[in-house]
Amino acid sequence: MNLFRKKSDLIVKLNNLRKNNFKIGLVPTMGALHKGHTSLVKRSIKENDYTIVSIFVNPTQFNDKKDLNLYPKNLTKDCNYLDSISTDIIIFAPEINNIYNKNLSVKKFNFYDLDKFMEGRYRKGHFNGVATIVSHLFNIIKPKNAYFGEKDFQQLRIIQELVSGNNIPVNVIGCQTIREKDGLALSSRNTKLSKHNRKIASKVYEIINYVRINFDSMSFLEIYTYVDKFFDNILEIELEYFTIAESKSLIPVKEKTINKQYRAFIAVKLQGVRLIDNIALN
Ligand code: AMP
Repeated sequence: MNLFRKKSDLIVKLNNLRKNNFKIGLVPTMGALHKGHTSLVKRSIKENDYTIVSIFVNPTQFNDKKDLNLYPKNLTKDCNYLDSISTDIIIFAPEINNIYNKNLSVKKFNFYDLDKFMEGRYRKGHFNGVATIVSHLFNIIKPKNAYFGEKDFQQLRIIQELVSGNNIPVNVIGCQTIREKDGLALSSRNTKLSKHNRKIASKVYEIINYVRINFDSMSFLEIYTYVDKFFDNILEIELEYFTIAESKSLIPVKEKTINKQYRAFIAVKLQGVRLIDNIALN
């Protein structure tokens, strides 16, 4: 097992690899690995000489302490899981104090309006925390390619902006969302759902997929009214937001313009467990 707990040790290993001009792919994760992560890891293995999977539950991207404390953690299981994919994977799982100073200082970034709505609005400071840890990882690892899931589409757009706005020489590669048979997007948080709520959770995909299918024939008002009514009938689910936004700028829209791409974004709480998803509408 190629497990590194200290960035200094990892840097020594990477400097050796770089001498041979090896192409390095990075998959940043918070652990509790599942097949969604696997798809990113497998793509990185295919496209690079070495793949690094970072496992780090980043405290600065949690606006809610309870959410942070509840986040599932099992490093041994994750390492065994990655080993079963390939024993060549390099795992980087640092301690918090190896990444942050005592005050958990976070850099403030300008993402223009990419962080103004949806997750940025409901999780204050979240994307500054995400960009801080991703910048640290890019600095330490200097990967050629870095893989992020469309499951967190706003995050993916923000990382793309971080890289282009700061001339960071990393290719940011977006990977499609992996779903369960009933459409629920795989997420580490799904393990926190009771059996009953796990069944109800499929409603999140059901509604965004309904919107996708009917996007051409429904007005925005009809869509928003339909979504509100849909959740009025599901007592277990508290809708945090449902937003249709332009795919590039992530600005919410009220009507369609020709030649623009749109996505639907959703966040719900299912008895304390927060789930997010999104889908391309055209
Ligand atoms: P996380 O561990 O939740 O921070 O996720 C690590 C990376 O895996 C992020 O880039 C996520 O967008 C991606 N990811 C998480 N779930 C999925 C999924 N179901 N399908 C594809 N990618 C995912």
